[in-house]
Amino acid sequence: MMDKIFYNNQRFTELKKRIFTILLPVFIIGFTLIFAIVVHNRALGLVNLITFGTLCIGLTVIYLCMLHKNSNFRYIESAITFIGMFIFLLRMYSNLIFDLGRNGYSDIGTVSYWVSLLFILLFFTFRGKMALAISLFIYLLILIPGIYHIFFSGFVNGDTLDTLIQFFLSTFGYIIALYYFQRVIEIYLQAEVAHHRAHTDYLTELPNRRKMDLQLHMEIELARHNSTSLSVVLFDVDYFKKVNDTFGHDVGDSILKELAQLVQNFLPQTDYFGRWGGEEFLWIGKDKNLFDIKTEAESLRVLIESHDFISVGTLTCSFGASELHEKDLAKDLLKRADEALYMAKEHGRNKVIASSILS
Ligand code: GH3
Ligand code: MG
Ligand code: MG
Repeated sequence: MMDKIFYNNQRFTELKKRIFTILLPVFIIGFTLIFAIVVHNRALGLVNLITFGTLCIGLTVIYLCMLHKNSNFRYIESAITFIGMFIFLLRMYSNLIFDLGRNGYSDIGTVSYWVSLLFILLFFTFRGKMALAISLFIYLLILIPGIYHIFFSGFVNGDTLDTLIQFFLSTFGYIIALYYFQRVIEIYLQAEVAHHRAHTDYLTELPNRRKMDLQLHMEIELARHNSTSLSVVLFDVDYFKKVNDTFGHDVGDSILKELAQLVQNFLPQTDYFGRWGGEEFLWIGKDKNLFDIKTEAESLRVLIESHDFISVGTLTCSFGASELHEKDLAKDLLKRADEALYMAKEHGRNKVIASSILS
């Protein structure tokens, strides 16, 4: 239900957090400054007191909550949106009913500068029809004092009528444009999620075979272009069938996850590591020759061998390494690593074999 009301996309939420982290302190300082100017000019009516008091105190409290690590971002953005709507409505009512058409005022006042930001905020916080419904509801609420002004206030002239019609037309335009713009963002986000899923292994959350294959082709091109070394390692859990048979498939699954995490923490960020299939993994070592990767694979072998896996205890893996040769295609490089892995299995498992010693 909440997902229908709010966006549920991590990247989008991160982006919004960043926007708020930049804007909130700027706005807090700005509104405090305006508050001071208003007090200095002795223009502190009730509306100004509520407006700037709420903005300064409210936004500061929200900002401090946001800095707190465990805060729920949905509450944060809802609170900001709520304050925005409240202040917007308060000032719209005050300006339309008491100011427009009087004392030479023929515009809606400074609140109209904030219309676009308020509706963007609404469409950032709520999704689809919910954002549209809330926006149209606010629109109707400000239409009421507009209509009051036209028919009952007695301060209508050509200028104020022109102002009102343009204001309500452009605001309606914003809302409709934002609704469709949000649909575009939604389609983009969905495509991004689909792309991520297509390249990620469901169980371990590592890059899957499709992604690793693409990456390998790219890295081969890069290595050729920059004349750098490139090596790969294929490794496979020893006697994994026995783990499944003894402890059950679920334990087998969690072992694969634990292993993936262990290896990922060991490998440098510049290398690529993914699930090649079943209990077999591929590691692409950038800028590494066969000697480098064999040495690192040896350390990884020892790390896995000495790790205490939950429920199972000790596990080992066998490793096959190969280095990119001049005329290699990706499949040649992988074939040699696979042959080396096979040799490692043949020679008693829990070993690292580098393909050069085969030929
Ligand atoms: P070897 O040392 O020769 O590699 O022996 P092994 O038992 O590891 O190899 P084998 O190929 O005979 O068995 C691999 C097993 O891995 C069989 C399969 O059920 C299991 N496996 C593959 N993918 C998964 C998975 O995602 N989860 C679980 N739990 N098991 C898996
Ligand atoms: Mg195996
Ligand atoms: Mg296998």
